[in-house]
Amino acid sequence: MAGLQPVRGTRDILPDERWRHRFIEETALGVAARYGYSEIATPIFEFSDVFKRTLGDTSDIVTKEMYTFTDKGGDEVTLRPEGTAGVARMLISGGLAQDLPLKYFYRGPMFRYERPQKGRFRQFHQTGVELLGVAEPLGDIEVIALGAEILEGLGILSKSTLELNTLGNAESRSAYREELIKYFNDFRAELSEDSQDRLERNPLRILDSKNKRDREIVANAPEFADSLDTESTEFFAAVTEGLDALSISYQLNSRLVRGLDYYCHTAFEFTTEGLGAQGTVLAGGRYDGLVEQMGGTATAGVGWAAGIERLAMLAQNVPGVERSIAIIPVVPELQNKAISLAHDLRSRGFTIELGYRGNMSRRLKRANKLNAKASIILGPDELERGAATVRNLDTGNQEEVSLETLADHLKQHN
Ligand code: ATP
Ligand code: MG
Repeated sequence: MAGLQPVRGTRDILPDERWRHRFIEETALGVAARYGYSEIATPIFEFSDVFKRTLGDTSDIVTKEMYTFTDKGGDEVTLRPEGTAGVARMLISGGLAQDLPLKYFYRGPMFRYERPQKGRFRQFHQTGVELLGVAEPLGDIEVIALGAEILEGLGILSKSTLELNTLGNAESRSAYREELIKYFNDFRAELSEDSQDRLERNPLRILDSKNKRDREIVANAPEFADSLDTESTEFFAAVTEGLDALSISYQLNSRLVRGLDYYCHTAFEFTTEGLGAQGTVLAGGRYDGLVEQMGGTATAGVGWAAGIERLAMLAQNVPGVERSIAIIPVVPELQNKAISLAHDLRSRGFTIELGYRGNMSRRLKRANKLNAKASIILGPDELERGAATVRNLDTGNQEEVSLETLADHLKQHN
């Protein structure tokens, strides 16, 4: 046995980090709720077809990264590598398309068989939004603005760049595809093996190849802008004008094509410098063809997903964990007095720690280690007088406080 280690690429999330994750999730949910988005949760695994049919045969996710297995009933299922396909499946199987537009927020674990490195895991977590049934550029503007506001709330926006591109409508994409095939054909033998394969199946994907020689060849490839038809050009202009109106700055990046096949029109990524090669924190785009490709009625869609681990590494303003108050009975006979006082104060909303054993000095040490802000020392003499000693653990100051006014006293010390 490989020893009791977590599986490569998976991690235990201990309290400090989980606290950061929760702050990120709650910040994201709070902003999304103000835009009218509601939280949903889809299953962590789906029939493999849900992903295979939608992410495309040539995407890295489908070709290399999926956790797929056959269950005991013989069904082939996959741990979800991303959230959008499951949401689209839900729209179809739940018959939700009557109620468009729909605005969803989600968070949860995703699974990809990747080479683990900083900011890249095999089980990681995403939060994301999907706006379904809005074909207008207003949808793209809204989800980008929503993403930007979340990054702002986390103190990350000023350190990130919004990269923006358009993949046009289907006609523009197939015109561009032809241009690319013509161009790359001349370099066929020099392209990486992956890109030769992409040339057959999805030449657009060559544009985001990380191979050095591929990149040199890509540098002189035809520009998408030259293949965009009027509809696509106008759509993109409306998106950029909306962003301008909101003073959201962006950089046009004509090589931004995103890994998945179902995107059209707007593609965007918020990237940062802080995380090395794993610099993309929030990424998304428009996927009008997805629901239809899955077998549902054609439904416009636009959304994004953000990596919670990456956001957690960058977030600036995560508040500290709420500090507790420790109740310390100085003699064992006061144990029950201590637990009932703890019960009473907890029911009033205080965070109370109660040592399980040890004399007063050990318990005080432990309270300090837990970063408690104060301790309530219960001694027989003070209790006789209906009081207890409250010690401020930061300053060491202490005073006797009547039990009747204890809660008010502690509130002032918050
Ligand atoms: P990358 O280029 O880093 O592989 P991607 O294009 O595969 O990213 P998306 O599928 O767009 O990523 O997922 C959205 C976000 O989810 C990413 O921007 C990133 O923050 C996060 N993410 C993706 N894969 C991982 C992973 N293996 N570990 C941690 N976070 C991830
Ligand atoms: Mg990836």
